[in-house]
Amino acid sequence: MSQPDEFVTFADEPGAAVPTASAERAAPVASARPWTVLIVDDDEDVHQVTRFSLEGVDFLGRPLAFASVYSAAEALDFLRKTPDVAVILLDVVMEDDHAGLDVVGKIRDSLGLQKPRIILRTGQPGYAPEMTAVRDYDINDYKTKSELTRTKLFTTLMAAIRAFDQICRIEAGRQGLERIVQSSGQLLQEQGLRGFAAGVITQLAALMGTSSDGLVCAVHDSADANEPEQLVIIGAAGRFERYIQADISTVEDDRVRSGLLQCLKDQRNLYREDHLVIYFPSSVGSPFATFVDGRVPLSQIDERLLQVFCSNVALCAKNIHLVQQLREQAFSDLLVRLPNRTAFVEQIQQRLAGGETSGQVMAVVDIDAFGEINNAFGHVHADQLLRAIAQRLAAALADHGTVARLGGDAFGILGPESVLTPAALRGVFASPFRVGGHEQRVHAGCGFVRLSDVSGDAPSALKDGFIALKLAKRAGLDGHAWFSASLGAAALERTRLLNNLEQAFSRNRLFAVYQPQVDLSSGRVLGFEALMRWRDEDGSLIGPDRFIPLAESSGLIVALGNWMLRCALQTLRSLQGVAGADLRMAVNVSVVQFRDPAFLDNVAAALRESGMDAQCLELEITESVAMIGADLVRDTLNRLRELGVAIAIDDFGTGYSSLSYLESLPVDRLKIDRSFVQSLALGGSGGRIAHLVVDLGRQLGLRVLAEGVEVEQQAQVLRQLGCHEAQGYLFGRPMMAEELAHWMNQHTGPDASKA
Ligand code: C2E
Ligand code: MG
Ligand code: MG
Repeated sequence: MSQPDEFVTFADEPGAAVPTASAERAAPVASARPWTVLIVDDDEDVHQVTRFSLEGVDFLGRPLAFASVYSAAEALDFLRKTPDVAVILLDVVMEDDHAGLDVVGKIRDSLGLQKPRIILRTGQPGYAPEMTAVRDYDINDYKTKSELTRTKLFTTLMAAIRAFDQICRIEAGRQGLERIVQSSGQLLQEQGLRGFAAGVITQLAALMGTSSDGLVCAVHDSADANEPEQLVIIGAAGRFERYIQADISTVEDDRVRSGLLQCLKDQRNLYREDHLVIYFPSSVGSPFATFVDGRVPLSQIDERLLQVFCSNVALCAKNIHLVQQLREQAFSDLLVRLPNRTAFVEQIQQRLAGGETSGQVMAVVDIDAFGEINNAFGHVHADQLLRAIAQRLAAALADHGTVARLGGDAFGILGPESVLTPAALRGVFASPFRVGGHEQRVHAGCGFVRLSDVSGDAPSALKDGFIALKLAKRAGLDGHAWFSASLGAAALERTRLLNNLEQAFSRNRLFAVYQPQVDLSSGRVLGFEALMRWRDEDGSLIGPDRFIPLAESSGLIVALGNWMLRCALQTLRSLQGVAGADLRMAVNVSVVQFRDPAFLDNVAAALRESGMDAQCLELEITESVAMIGADLVRDTLNRLRELGVAIAIDDFGTGYSSLSYLESLPVDRLKIDRSFVQSLALGGSGGRIAHLVVDLGRQLGLRVLAEGVEVEQQAQVLRQLGCHEAQGYLFGRPMMAEELAHWMNQHTGPDASKA
């Protein structure tokens, strides 16, 4: 058993002034974390005397806090719950003679506590532990209680605390480095700024050995130089967590606000009594600062660690900035600031994968005649218009789902069927858009798909949307259409046909036939109209009414038309040797060709290459050409006129062009559509229209040609009406180039029409 009387002797040691923390370091702080000293002794007196003799002592700026236990078992129990004990004053003899020594073994081995310093005390010198125990169990000191005078106890304890502190620092340094290595890796993986900020807080708190009551801030996105105080909290932990994404002004704790502002202003760390603020510079993006609450005693090693950490974080921040930029560029449309096609497809995919398809609709919206707007007003204007459209679409529909730009003038919208309706979209385009000080009416076609009707994946759902859009476009301005399975099948068939057409073109299986155009009164051959033919691999002929629209929708018509023009001029050239120089060749031109910026150059080049006079070429355009904008049409026609090329309006009477508009165009000939000619003799409305067209042509000073004249009776009526020219089976069917010379030899002359 211990002998307290021997022990107490130090208490009255004369003149033994116990140094306080003031000798070690100025101004101890009462709130500082104390060193915990655990007294393990079965004698209550020892506890009391120890506490009494060390009362009020500070060391390295920190007070002592005593804990008392009375047996080996209690000691282990206490340490299990409170592992951060600095020093254990341990009685050797308690439950049994070796109880104290056994406890040491358990502390180090079973509990795995290496840091606490252990001072063994014994009343009986005879129970001294063996040297090996002192060495193996890392025991700081072994003293008999009689040795421990008050001064001696103080110095022994202080030496132990100093050792403990050093061990802790070395350990913290090691752990800190380990964390930096780890965290650098983790931060690199973080893709969001918020996650990154949380990572910085956690790692920093661990590094500094504080709780993670911290804040991370970045300079506000707009980086408005006039508003330097605009800070947004990008990440926070502990009691500050609720301020995430809030403005800095909402944080009540003034130290946070002023500290962060100061730190960012001075661009350096601030070390304060009860908090610190760390500055993280950034070579890209905004620099940010982190507020760490609590008293953080900084030793040199901490500062160095901090430096290493900060430069690592700065690197990670740069990486995250880059990753964010990449993500932004990959998933958003920078022109109109909406999600892009990739993001849209991802959204659809999520709904399809999550089974959230019922009642959900996807719409593909495409601006009507946007190409013309682009040509007529220029790219800057067109871009502004796109932005205005994007804004209006997003304002109307983004709250209920997603509005994305799919590219060009096409937008994708995802939303519930109750909201995303044709009427809702018409509403968006109902009033004109204001762009560059001008009001502009915009029309848009829209293809709708119910997600529950989608059988494939997201990209194929989008394809369905475009199929419906195509149908919508055919309905005219502001058209809309819903996708259906049969529509999908038809689209598939069209795709197949288009592929075949492309192949046929490249393998020269397309050819031209020529149909005579004659003077109605004399029967003289005036020229030919070139018509395209496609003989499929199996030998069957596919009509132009089937493949021309296909070629138009794919843009292939531009190449086909060019080829056709050259063929026709070539044929005419070879015919001139037989028939003289005043034969003309009419060639059909699609709206798509007409819109092509290289169109005029192509015509001029084809004429040049053929060596033919422009006067013998006539281009047939349909009334639909008029839809692409009066100025562009007039301009192009005038340029063709300047070249010397004649213009005919084909299928006249089937379109919607206004008479005043027509009058303003430089046109040579009107071709009455064969549907009107066919009903001529029957006295129906078609006949009356033929009548009107002839009159109109005459009044406008234009030549009028009747198409599809099949029987003599029609020719007679037309002659009576004053129609000048005709074309039809009655005079000649479309023929191969090789047949023309022979046909001409037989049919030239006034009586040809009666043949
Ligand atoms: P279109 O330009 O109005 O051509 C006249 C069409 O009427 C031709 O049909 C011709 O074969 C047909 N036809 C001529 N006389 C008669 C007749 O007495 N009775 C009947 N029932 N039909 C007659 P085709 O060759 O099938 O061409 C149809 C349309 O395809 C053309 O109508 C034209 O719009 C387009 N097309 C043909 N070739 C070309 C081309 O090279 N380029 C362009 N862009 N379109 C073409
Ligand atoms: Mg024609
Ligand atoms: Mg026609």
